[in-house]
Parts: sequence; C-alpha cells; structure tokens
Amino acid sequence: MSNYDYDLFVIGAGSGGVRAARLSATYGARVGIAEDRYLGGTCVNVGCVPKKLFVYASHVAAEIRNAKGFGWEIDHTIFDWSRLIKNKNAEIKRLNGVYKHLLDEAGVTTINGRATLVDDHTVAIGGQQLTADKILVATGGWPHVPDIPGKEYSISSNEAFFLDTLPEQIIIVGGGYIAVEFAGIFNGLGVDTTLLYRGSLFLRGFDHDLRTMLAKEMQKKGVTIMFNANINQIKKSDAQLIATLADGTQLEAEKIMYATGRKPMTDNLGLEQVGIELDEKRAIKVNAMYQTNIASIYAIGDVTNRINLTSVALAEAVVLAKRLFAYEEKTVDYADIPTCVFSQPNLGTVGLTEAQAREKYAHIDIYKSRFTPMQYALSDNNEKMFMKLIVDRATDRVIGAHMLGSDAGEIIQGISIAIKAKATKQDFDSTIGIHPTAAEEFVTMRVPV
Ligand code: FAD
Ligand code: NDP
Repeated sequence: MSNYDYDLFVIGAGSGGVRAARLSATYGARVGIAEDRYLGGTCVNVGCVPKKLFVYASHVAAEIRNAKGFGWEIDHTIFDWSRLIKNKNAEIKRLNGVYKHLLDEAGVTTINGRATLVDDHTVAIGGQQLTADKILVATGGWPHVPDIPGKEYSISSNEAFFLDTLPEQIIIVGGGYIAVEFAGIFNGLGVDTTLLYRGSLFLRGFDHDLRTMLAKEMQKKGVTIMFNANINQIKKSDAQLIATLADGTQLEAEKIMYATGRKPMTDNLGLEQVGIELDEKRAIKVNAMYQTNIASIYAIGDVTNRINLTSVALAEAVVLAKRLFAYEEKTVDYADIPTCVFSQPNLGTVGLTEAQAREKYAHIDIYKSRFTPMQYALSDNNEKMFMKLIVDRATDRVIGAHMLGSDAGEIIQGISIAIKAKATKQDFDSTIGIHPTAAEEFVTMRVPV
C-alpha cells in the first residue's frame, strides 16, 4: 500500500473511468474518482444510451406504416416529444443512480467536482488537494463545431437531447456516425431533415457499397442529402436560422445541428503544467500500457482519440486495471472491432472493407446479397437489406462482413465472433441457417460476384 491518499485516482466517471475505478477497487486498490458533470459520462448521458432510445422512438413511425399491410389500421397517431424527453431523462437518472451504486459497492470514493492535475501524484478538486500513486485521465471528448460566423446559433448532439420542442426543420452538418444517426432520428420523428456533408459520400472509412446504399435508403425515407456542401455562415431571422452555403445557396431551418467530430477534453486540466505530451489534435499520447510520458499518469478512452467507442474505452479500462492491480499482462486487441452506425437502416460492420482488403490481399472473393426482407413483404416499405462477405482466397478466411438493414448491429455482433475466431468461408457455408431469418443469408451466399 502506498503512502498516498489513493492507490489510483481517476479523473472522469465515464465509460472508461468508472470501469477502471470499479475493477481496480475490486482488486484491493484504494480508489477515488472525480466527476464534474454526470456519472456514466457521454455514453450514458448524451451518447449511446439516449441516442438509441431516440432511434427506437423514431422507428415507431415506420412500424406503424408497415402495420397496415399486416391488417392493422392505426389511424390517429400523436407523437409527444416532451413525453419522450421526460421518460428518457428519467431512465438516465436511473442509470446515474446505478453507476453511483456500483462505485459505492466496489468501495470507490466518488467526488463531485472538476479535477485538475497539480503534479505527477497530485490532483486538485475545488480547494482540496489529493494525492495518488497513480492517476488515470479518462475525461472523454466534447463536440467540435467549426469556427464560422453564427456558429453560436447552432446546436450539437449535447443540446439535441434536451430540445424543448421538436423543430419543424433541421439541417445537420457532418457525415460521420452522429450526423447520419440523428438525420434518421429527426426524419423518423417527422422533422423536415437536411443532411449536409462536405465530401462526395458520407461515412468515410466504411465499405463503399454500404455508404452508397445507405444514402439511397435515407433519401427514400425522405432525408434531403446534400453532398459536397458546407455552411459558410449562419444568421438568425426571428425564429428561423438562415444558412449560407459555400456556393451561395441559402437554406432556412428552425435548428442547425453540427456533428463535425469531437475533440479530446484536455483543456485546462493542468496537463501542460505537469508536462504531459499531447498530439496535434490535443489528444493525450500513451504507450501500449496506456501510460503517458509521466510514468505515474495514465489515460484511456476518447481523451486518447484512437477508436472512440464505449466498448473500446471499457476494454482499455479492464486491461489497465488488471495490469496495475492484478498484475495480469493483458492487452486490447484492436483488430476486427465490430461497430454499428444506428442509422435507419442500421449499418453494421466488422473487419476489412473491400478497398482495404484489395490493398492487403492479392486475391479476394466478394459475396453480396441484396433483397427485400420478409419483415416488409406485406407492407409498402421498399427498404432493401444488403449483406457482404469478403474472403481471402489464399486462406479462405472471411476478413470482412458488412450489413445494411434492420438489426445489423445485433447480427454483426454475432458474426464478429466468427471473424475473431478466424472462421473460413467453408465454416460459414457449413453452418446451418435459422429459417426464416434475414441473418441466414450470411451462411447461404455461395457464388462470389
Ligand atoms: P466519457 O464517457 O466522455 O467520460 C468522460 C467523463 O469525464 C465525463 O463524464 C466528463 O464529464 C468527465 N470529465 C471531463 N473532464 C473532467 C474533469 N476535469 N474533472 C472531472 N470530470 C471530468 N459509442 C458506442 O460505442 N456506441 C454508440 O452507439 C455511441 N453513440 C454515441 C452517440 C453520441 C451522440 C456520442 C457523442 C458518442 C457516442 N458514442 C458511442 C461514443 C461514446 O460515448 C464514447 O466513446 C465513450 O463515452 C468514451 O468514454 P470515455 O470514458 O473515454 O469518456
Ligand atoms: P466523426 O468523426 O464520426 O465524423 C465527423 C464528420 O464531420 C465527418 O464526416 C467529417 O468529414 C465532418 N467534418 C469534420 N470537420 C468538418 C468541418 N469543419 N466542416 C464540415 N464537416 C466536417 O464524428 P461524430 O461527431 O459523428 O462522432 C464522434 C465519434 O463518436 C465517432 O467517430 C465515433 O467514434 C463515436 N460515435 C459512435 C457511435 C456508434 O458507435 N454508433 C455513434 C456516435 C458517435 P470528413 O469525413 O470529410 O473528415
């Protein structure tokens, strides 16, 4: 046991911080954690959780429309945004309590307040200074809005979760996860939705087939998508906002939401004072053990700006706690991390895209299937489902699996175990499908394109 107040002090009670604190405490460490905003961090309060609740809420509209073909008449529908917000807030409050309980139960001391680094072993919170043998910075990230005239009139995802009223129209700027997910949410809830992306096709880095098909499916559902477009300035006129685009076009909307990436939360943390190295995007630089250039200070999760996903922050927290207090030499395997964009329809993916596979392997086989799922057979919903497998011909290994369609996140999570276990196409082929499901298509695609 060290002579410090704590063996580990964690700054930030988000996905990574809470997991690292709890696990370290269960290994016998004396742990403290500081949180200045909300227990559970971004994911629980203004990220994954409320976002998924909104996705479910907005999807109900499509389900009501699909119901007609199955014999249902649902004539009089009313959507109450304030009820959704109230219920969502109550659920999140419940989760905040669960997090507090989990920390208490593990014996972690939770301190409400903003922590800053004083030196290699000291943090300051309010007027108080605390010492720790090891300090973990897990402060996450914050929305980044480009510096354009009128940016103060825009909102980010942070505010989108708490709007007093549902806007009539919204312009969403960006082409990443958040822009695409929120375009689906607002459109599903009946908002006149325009998505503006500066490039020629959104979701850069994902498989090209899925990106083009998703754009088409979103347009079919009524989202106006403008590629190669960006806002130069925003002006306010009464209750409306006027966006002037780079080519001079003017667009009007009640709300303009920026989803143009997030930056690591490293400002005013005392990092410079302690001499912690940051990269060019002001993310904390760490080695393979999540250690900064100061031996006693570690960092995990979004503040290191690598793969900014909750599950990755959690995995890093587990490895770090095991290394520091259970003396287990584990590492996170960053290969083949599955991910899902909760767009409508969902885009789920694991492994290499076709473009990446072509660069890495001499010969690949591609299997594709595009079909109308039975789920929509009796409705006028013409949404298509798409599945794609990428196989290394030399070893027969499946090196990429991609899907666009209902529940793609759920399905790709299962497929990702096979990919992680280095399954071959022959393994997929010899797996009996569950009939009738959409997912069985993954084990019945026989002819490469
Ligand atoms: P965070 O969860 O951001 O936690 C950091 C915590 O530190 C915060 O609570 C903050 O208040 C606190 N803090 C910061 N500075 C201080 C300080 N000085 N003192 C005290 N406390 C401080 N990921 C997924 O995997 N799936 C999804 O579906 C998904 N959806 C998302 C949707 C949205 C809209 C957003 C914004 C993100 C989403 N993410 C999703 C990403 C995910 O939320 C993050 O990757 C994850 O929360 C990172 O965890 P973290 O522990 O690094 O940081
Ligand atoms: P992303 O980094 O995913 O996307 C940012 C988008 O904004 C890109 O399309 C980028 O374009 C564009 N952009 C960046 N700067 C500008 C600018 N100055 N003007 C116009 N466009 C710009 O960020 P998000 O904010 O969508 O999400 C942050 C992260 O949170 C994600 O990367 C992901 O790690 C995580 N997340 C995960 C989710 C999930 O797992 N389902 C859901 C939501 C978030 P370009 O591509 O051209 O650079």
